[in-house]
Amino acid sequence: MQFDFIIVGSGPAGSFSAYLLSELGKKVAIIERDPLFSKRSICGEIIPEKKYLLEAIDEDESIEETFSLSEQFARNRMRNIIFKIGNKEHRLDYGMMSIDRARLVEYLSNRAMNSGCKFLLGRFSSWLEKQDEVKVRVVTEEGEQFLRGSNLVIAAGASFYREMFNVNDMDMAFALRTIVSGISIDNSVRMEIDPHIAPGGYIWIIPMGNGRANVGLGARLPFISRMNPVLSLRNFIINRFKEFNIEEKEAGRLVPVGGMRKARFGRVFLLGDSAGMCVPINGGGLYTAMISAHVLYRVIRDGVPESYEDILAKTIGKIVNTGLVYRKAADLIVFSDRRIRITSKIVPSFIIRDIIAMKKSFRVYPAMKFLSGVAELCRPI
Ligand SMILES: Cc1cc2nc3c(=O)[nH]c(=O)nc-3n(C[C@H](O)[C@H](O)[C@H](O)COP(=O)(O)OP(=O)(O)OC[C@H]3O[C@@H](n4cnc5c(N)ncnc54)[C@H](O)[C@@H]3O)c2cc1C
Repeated sequence: MQFDFIIVGSGPAGSFSAYLLSELGKKVAIIERDPLFSKRSICGEIIPEKKYLLEAIDEDESIEETFSLSEQFARNRMRNIIFKIGNKEHRLDYGMMSIDRARLVEYLSNRAMNSGCKFLLGRFSSWLEKQDEVKVRVVTEEGEQFLRGSNLVIAAGASFYREMFNVNDMDMAFALRTIVSGISIDNSVRMEIDPHIAPGGYIWIIPMGNGRANVGLGARLPFISRMNPVLSLRNFIINRFKEFNIEEKEAGRLVPVGGMRKARFGRVFLLGDSAGMCVPINGGGLYTAMISAHVLYRVIRDGVPESYEDILAKTIGKIVNTGLVYRKAADLIVFSDRRIRITSKIVPSFIIRDIIAMKKSFRVYPAMKFLSGVAELCRPI
């Protein structure tokens, strides 16, 4: 059977694109290697409220559709972020929502299949591009299979990004999270900088409502091999909460924090983490992955596939690029106790808020751009 689109990966990017393209009447196949893909949710599961995201990018159709869909899966909304650096806590007015990612992915996959999308459980291993078609090799339990399609969509997550673009390890993070219940916390997102627990990243506590929270940490890849992230996270939880239950075991995976790469090679389109569409300063990639899926749908619907990267640059590209400048500048500080202590004494809340909001503000961006250049010259690795 010949498909219009063969999609690899059924995460937020793959399942949203499968749903949208199937509804458009395209013949779609989706290849997913993980039988538990719609049950597992290795994610912090928070996204900004749209109103706050629009401080950093202009609204367009893809942002609108992504957020109106995500809001249907919101389980908790938070008005503030408490950001801890050194001994200082900043309470920032920035709204975020916790969404049920597993339910969202399951919903999108089911809708896609109801519209005729073929689902194949197997591992995508390679592709061959001929003049007017793409031939894809998939390894399933029954052996290898070949699918033929007019286009290939790769939404296979961060491992693909790392391998395909030969990304420096400092541009990758490893993040893991667990779900704790029976705790007493206020309804704010917490982010904490501590180089001993999360070198080059941060620790988060995200309230999910009813005494439950998503607690996790992200650290840069070269440092992960020198620590035990599961133990670090457990110790953090033990020290933080008097009483708690671990509801779900710690689980983690890679996060791209090195910025966006090329997202289209002829008939091959890259979505979400596979093209580095995570915001490097905070590792958020759930909503950017979905926006990229919607942008793909738009250019196909409008018959302008060649505009895919241009539209991405105007939407996701803006926040990913700003986030990359902020991440590189922050690299000068976040690995050192002494620098964190000094910074925490002198940096006011509004600067931290602009950075978290990925705002390219005149009061923060030029200085951060300069510092990011300095950081590039003296990369720790
Ligand atoms: C611990 C953690 C916490 C996070 N917290 C947040 C957060 O709070 N907010 C936020 O916005 N982002 C967060 N992120 C990032 C976010 O999860 C990702 O950016 C997002 O999931 C990217 O979606 P995606 O569809 O591009 O890729 P993925 O979600 O990685 O999906 C890729 C899919 O492809 C499948 N796949 C991979 N290779 C193959 C193959 N060879 N063959 C077939 N199938 C394959 C995988 O099984 C998977 O189902 C977090 C990440 C981690 C690790």
